[in-house]
Amino acid sequence: MKPWIQLTVEAMDSTYSRYSIESLSTIGLVQMTRKRTRESLEHILCETCPSCEGRGFVKTIETVAYEITREIVREAAQFNPKQMMLICSHEINDYLSDDEPDILADLEESLQIPIMLKTDHYYGREHYDIALY
Ligand SMILES: [Zn+2]
Repeated sequence: MKPWIQLTVEAMDSTYSRYSIESLSTIGLVQMTRKRTRESLEHILCETCPSCEGRGFVKTIETVAYEITREIVREAAQFNPKQMMLICSHEINDYLSDDEPDILADLEESLQIPIMLKTDHYYGREHYDIALY
């Protein structure tokens, strides 16, 4: 082994077995070292994505809107409020007020209470609160 390659091997984490290191090509070792460096930097410089909490996926707007309607119906039945306010992300607000305004209108009619809509710009797509009055 050339000296610089030996250095690279020694610098690597012991979690890599001797066998797997020796079976790698020189190119492979360099790539592996770079990847590990980037992962370490990511660990230091980054945090878990607040939207998906590390899953890499977020629920669709339609799914979140459906969950909200289920929650509104459940809370209305349980607490019998005089009115409700949905606090949600701007994209859920846009969807419920512009794209599908019938969803909340139908809920208001069947529950016989007004449902107000408010955007909190700090809320991610899946984040919402339902306030009861
Ligand atoms: Zn994410």
